[in-house]
Order: sequence, then structure tokens, then C-alpha cells
Amino acid sequence: MKRVYNFNAGPCTLPLPVLEQVKEEFLDYQGKGMSIVEMSHRSKEYEDIQFGAASMISQLYDLPDNYKVLFLGGGATMQFSMIPLNLLPEGRSCDFTVTGSWSKKALADTRKVGKVNVVFDGEKDNYMALPDPASLKLDPQAAYLHITSNETIGGVEWPNFPESGKVPIICDMSSDFASRRLSLERFGMIYAGAQKNAGPAGVTIVILRDDLLERCPETLMAYLSYKIHAAKDSMYNTPPVFAVYMLKLVMEWLLKKGGLAAAEKMAAERSGLVYGAIEKNSAFYRCPVAENCRSKMNVVFRLPTEELENKFVAEAAAGSMIGLKGHRSVGGCRASIYNAMPIAGVKALADLMNDFAAKSG
Ligand code: PMP
Repeated sequence: MKRVYNFNAGPCTLPLPVLEQVKEEFLDYQGKGMSIVEMSHRSKEYEDIQFGAASMISQLYDLPDNYKVLFLGGGATMQFSMIPLNLLPEGRSCDFTVTGSWSKKALADTRKVGKVNVVFDGEKDNYMALPDPASLKLDPQAAYLHITSNETIGGVEWPNFPESGKVPIICDMSSDFASRRLSLERFGMIYAGAQKNAGPAGVTIVILRDDLLERCPETLMAYLSYKIHAAKDSMYNTPPVFAVYMLKLVMEWLLKKGGLAAAEKMAAERSGLVYGAIEKNSAFYRCPVAENCRSKMNVVFRLPTEELENKFVAEAAAGSMIGLKGHRSVGGCRASIYNAMPIAGVKALADLMNDFAAKSG
């Protein structure tokens, strides 16, 4: 078997030792004579997995006791509705930063529920730049401030976050969760679809400060209520057991590697190699994103023509480097280089970029 270097944005490459462990214990989990996907979610084995996964996330982020880790379904997209339904009380408004495709989607759903005050909209820069956090005119009465820490499609990532006083920041960390050192105490809530740095698709991580649970309306349908999920330790209904099991293994893998500090170091190294190849061949490649907010997870770049971009992507695929085509909404190229991407994969990509520029430039 030859594994490819997978630069897809999510689902994406996962740590090989985790995949091997999953394969190894699939048919007979811990000598129980059945696989994890056949077991009751009320079994001791599964409870250990789910509580273990939550406690590893707490360990990774050194979370204080007043933060709750939930595992929910519906993807990060479901959070676009659950957040305002739970946390935006009638008569109040929330502040929103619009920095690309994902925050636009979150904004559209929030507007269906309540009032939104857009404090930043990156449209004039084609969503390729972020504001100085200190320049934002935040409403001190806002129910919350919503931020997308990393725009997976546009490739912009907030290097640091605004000071919002008593207003909780709610952050979509889908594509940079577990990639850098960060105190989550700066946030009222963060959420992330697992399928980038945390595991397979099917589970969404929600971490929220418990005082926010008091806002959840009693009239809300059960599945939509954070309060119900928190009271039932994310077991109100059947959780996505296989996704949670794999997430636990991925978190275990990351902790063994050195946790967030190690992830941050690896991300700097990987992204440095790709941005370095762009800089080195700057007459050929161009990164459209402002330098101070270039994503360390999703590196976007353009070649002189679309034809050359297609050729580059095809040549990469022939060399076992797949998933380098930019998102269909923006075109160009994108290398998603999450925690599980081996450095060798990024080196191979940088070499190809150098060679391709030399022969086509
Ligand atoms: N937010 C961001 C930043 C994302 O990258 C994605 C998915 N790529 C989503 C939200 C939506 O996540 P899901 O597909 O899990 O609903």
C-alpha cells in the first residue's frame, strides 16, 4: 500500500498510527468480541471513550472546570443555528466579523434568528485581510461577538483576538482547533467540526463556559439546546460513537506528541515551507492573503494562469500529492496542512513548486 500526501481541506489526512490502531482493534474492541460501532453507547467501554475524549481536550487546552466539552452532530454548520437560538436573547443583538465564506454562512443563519451588528466586513479586500483587533468598534451590550478564527477557503487566520470585555467571544475554530497555543478562557464558546485536526467527520466539538447555559431558552427543542446536551454529558441521544472514538485517539496522539506547543511548532514549520516556496518563486506564485493573517492551516496561492494551475494540480497528483485544487468558489490552489500532515509531504510539495516554477516560469 502506498499512502498519498493528502492536502484536502477536510475530511483530510489523519495520523497513520491512529488509523493503524483503529484497524487493529476494529473487529474485537478490548476483547469484547465486537467492534466499537456495534456496542451500546451506554456501555462502560463507550463511556470511557467519550469521557476520555472530553478529558483529553480539557488537558490539551488546560480548561478550567467551568468549561463544558460537548460532542454534537450536525457539523459546525448546525452551530450556526444553535448559537443564536441558545445565546442570542430576544431584543438583544450580537456583533459579527465577516471574514470569508464560513463567517458569511454563520451570519446568514444568525440573521434568521435575531439582530446582528457587523463590526467588520472584509469585502473591500476580497476577504484577503483582517482588521487590527483593537480597531473594532464593539458593542459593550452585545450578547456575544462571533469570529471565525481560520477561514478554510480564503486562507486567512486571526493571529490574535479582540479584547471584548464582558462580551463573550464565540469562535468557529473548525479549521485551526488544536493547532496553536491558546487560552480558551478568552472565549465564551468555541466550536469545531472534527474533520480537520481532530478526527473524522460526524462529530462537532463545542466548548462553552457554563454560565452561558443559563441563557438557553426552555422552549427550545431538545436536540437544539446546549443546556440539555450539557446536563446529559452529550448522551441525550445516541452520539456519533465511531467519530468520537477516533477523535479520542487523535487527541491522545497529539498529547503524546507534545500537545498544542508541538502542534504550533509543526504548523509554523509546515506553513513556512509552503509560503517559503511561494516567496522564493514570487514571479510565478502569488499568495493573495495579507501577510499578517496568512493561515498556517490552509495556504492559498495562485499561478500565472488557470491553465498552469490545472497543470500544477495534475502534476502534483501524479506525484502522489492530492487535494491541491482551491475551493470551487475561489479557484487557484490550496494546500491544507493540518496536524497529521507529515513534514515529508510538505517538503515534497515545496520541491514540486520550485521545479514547476523553474520549468514553467
Ligand atoms: N466553519 C469552517 C471554518 C469550516 O471550514 C467548515 C467546513 N469546512 C464549516 C464551518 C462547516 O463545517 P461542517 O461541514 O462540519 O458543517
